[in-house]
Amino acid sequence: MRLKGNRLWGHDNRFRLILTLVLAVLLPAVALIYVNFQHLESIKRDKKVEALIHRDFQYVLAVSEKRLNQKAYRLTDEVRDLFPAPDIDSEVEKARKLDFILSKNPGLAHVFLFDRDKGLLLRSQPQQLNDKYCRVEHDLMEKSFSGWFGMEGKMLVEGMHKKVRPYTWYTSLTKRADGDAYVTTALFVLPQVSRDRVVMGGASFDPNYLKQTFFPEMLDELINQKLTEDKGERLAMMVYPTEEGTEDKPLATSAGWSKGKPEITRKLDDVFRGFALGIKFQGTTVDAIGHRWVMQSFLILGVLSLLMIGGLVLTYRNVSKEMALAHLKSDFVSNVSHELRTPLALIRLYAETLELGRITTQEKKQDYYRIIRKESERLTALINNILDFSRIEAGRKEYDFRETDIAELVRNTLDAYRFQIEQQGFAFEQHIESSIPAVRVDREAIARALVNLINNALKYSVHEKFLGVKLYRANDLLKLEVIDRGIGITRREQSKIFEKFYRTGDPLVHNTKGSGLGLSLVRHITQAHGGEVQVESTPGKGSKFTLSLPLATAT
Ligand code: ADP
Repeated sequence: MRLKGNRLWGHDNRFRLILTLVLAVLLPAVALIYVNFQHLESIKRDKKVEALIHRDFQYVLAVSEKRLNQKAYRLTDEVRDLFPAPDIDSEVEKARKLDFILSKNPGLAHVFLFDRDKGLLLRSQPQQLNDKYCRVEHDLMEKSFSGWFGMEGKMLVEGMHKKVRPYTWYTSLTKRADGDAYVTTALFVLPQVSRDRVVMGGASFDPNYLKQTFFPEMLDELINQKLTEDKGERLAMMVYPTEEGTEDKPLATSAGWSKGKPEITRKLDDVFRGFALGIKFQGTTVDAIGHRWVMQSFLILGVLSLLMIGGLVLTYRNVSKEMALAHLKSDFVSNVSHELRTPLALIRLYAETLELGRITTQEKKQDYYRIIRKESERLTALINNILDFSRIEAGRKEYDFRETDIAELVRNTLDAYRFQIEQQGFAFEQHIESSIPAVRVDREAIARALVNLINNALKYSVHEKFLGVKLYRANDLLKLEVIDRGIGITRREQSKIFEKFYRTGDPLVHNTKGSGLGLSLVRHITQAHGGEVQVESTPGKGSKFTLSLPLATAT
């Protein structure tokens, strides 16, 4: 009944442990992993990482446009300040001043001054006029500007006066020796001229300057700035003319553009209308980065999940180990009480019988005395075991090593037990080598270890009752063997029997008194002597316990 109750109790506890682990750890963790997994899935499905990068790209392009415009405005502002005064300067003076501007700004191809009353004065970089294409451009501009400004000049001037910055920009296609080229022109009104006059100035950026200097330098600067802001993948940017309709033909690129299409483009307005900016990563794509990020996150989630499962298994194993120990302890208490009760009852019974004086024959009396002594010895042995054990547990066990003739120690211990052994019907064989040198041991402890082993052999033998004890020397080791032909121990349990409280599942063991402490003491004692204890056993055939003590402790 007790056993069943105990089992049930253990069962119940295990169930509660599993329930706690499942409810408190597994479920929340699985939910968390599931939610994270779904989240990652949605990031992957909706390409959220890519969208985030694209938004960042768009922002970079917007900022870049602003910076390009600022630079262009700054350059033209400087030029505008140097412009001749249309009403004061003579025509010669005006031409001289315009030429001066050109000489100071090699990035400009042409500068011009338009006055509706006096006509157009257009000057070009002198050395460029040797170039056939520049000449054509010069002539063409002179002609088309005169016509255009003559017709729409008033409207243009009025429009510019209304703006915060009095500029109008336009970009046109032209030709150079190496093919198509783009010239960007700024028109502006002059500060010192009254608002109702149709007078304006202008400056055209040289196509080669834009292509080879202005854009590449600006793009590099912008990218370097972005790089110091966030240390991610390296970016590359380019400018291309929109009317070409192709993103593959950049007009100018930053370093590291190599080839390919931009990830994100932005059509420019205001100064560089007609151009667009493109941006991408150097050597990789947004898709690849998004994919990598998602994969990495999945990997991390996977590793975390595995760690969690590992932790859970570990916790479960540890806690069930503790629970098993608690279970063993409760068994131990009932085993020990049981074991104390039997000898006490016997001692009392025989002592009372003697006291009553009913026993007349001396021989019978002797028998009773012997039983009382034997049972008291058993009690002492048990209590000694428990005391030793509690000292060991508290770390207070001390050994008293002394020079000892171990053969004699073993012989004496066996002699004390010989009668009991033979009385229980055991065939007893002992083999003790006599030429063993003296060793330093704790006599009491070694004797107790031997007694524990002998007691086990007596307890756990049913059919064939045999006990053998051997003491011999093997090289540097001293071997003490206790052999029986009893019930034996399964291989699985052989490693556990040395643990405290452990008793095997054999039904005979359950019906035999015991505390499960004996072998754990034996092991502790042998280890304290620098040795070890081993067991060889076959279930149903018998067991052999061997203590090996190093002879090096000999002096
Ligand atoms: P106890 O004998 O008090 O139960 P021990 O620590 O001495 O405790 O032994 C632990 C267990 O090992 C025993 O309960 C028994 O199951 C097993 N055992 C020990 N010695 C033998 C042996 N000689 N033959 C078979 N089983 C043994």
